[in-house]
Amino acid sequence: MDIARLYELQKIDTNMLKVRRRVAQLRRQQGESDDLKTARSAAAATQTEQEHLRAAELDAELLSEQLAERIHDAEQRLMSGTVRNPKELESLQASIEALKRQRTQAEEAALSAFQRGEEVTARLAREQAALSDVEATWQAGQADFAQEENKLKRIYAQLKQQRQPIVERLGTPAMELYDQLGARKAGVAVATVKNGTCGACNVSLPTGVVSSARIEEGVPVYCPSCGRILYDG
Ligand SMILES: [Zn+2]
Repeated sequence: MDIARLYELQKIDTNMLKVRRRVAQLRRQQGESDDLKTARSAAAATQTEQEHLRAAELDAELLSEQLAERIHDAEQRLMSGTVRNPKELESLQASIEALKRQRTQAEEAALSAFQRGEEVTARLAREQAALSDVEATWQAGQADFAQEENKLKRIYAQLKQQRQPIVERLGTPAMELYDQLGARKAGVAVATVKNGTCGACNVSLPTGVVSSARIEEGVPVYCPSCGRILYDG
């Protein structure tokens, strides 16, 4: 069996796995970030608050105008001389006073809504500027992701191309062994020997095993601990 070539295949497959994992990671990172969602919802909530305050200001202004008209009408009646009964005059006077108090309240409400509206408008401007910044950063990140993904796809295609002739040269029995071992050993069928230990499970190997693992072609030598094919190239 061509152990050196099996190891070549293992290197390619390990790289292909890394590329696939990175692509999956990039895809998870695509879509809106938490920062973007937070900034967007903050600005949207402030905008709603601003709209409510504007409506409240307008309602209070309208009420104040209506009250002004009613005050005007009542004062006209008072001065017209048509009402002569002292009790009626007194009640008309009292109603004018009540309307004036209501009008003052409406004016105060309009002013308060206006002032709060100004604060909210300033806050909204800050939040919208922050949102623009977050959006710009996010968009740049998305472009980087897309670029990296394209690069990874090209690398993946190259690896696949390199893999094909190696698979053909290895032949069916070697490939069956490789695939079966790989399936049981987390995709790693061939391990290198590093300073007398197995490169996959890090267990110290007996000297006899290490020297046998130097063969490039022949009967495979297995790690006594993890069972992978050893290669000391
Ligand atoms: Zn091992």
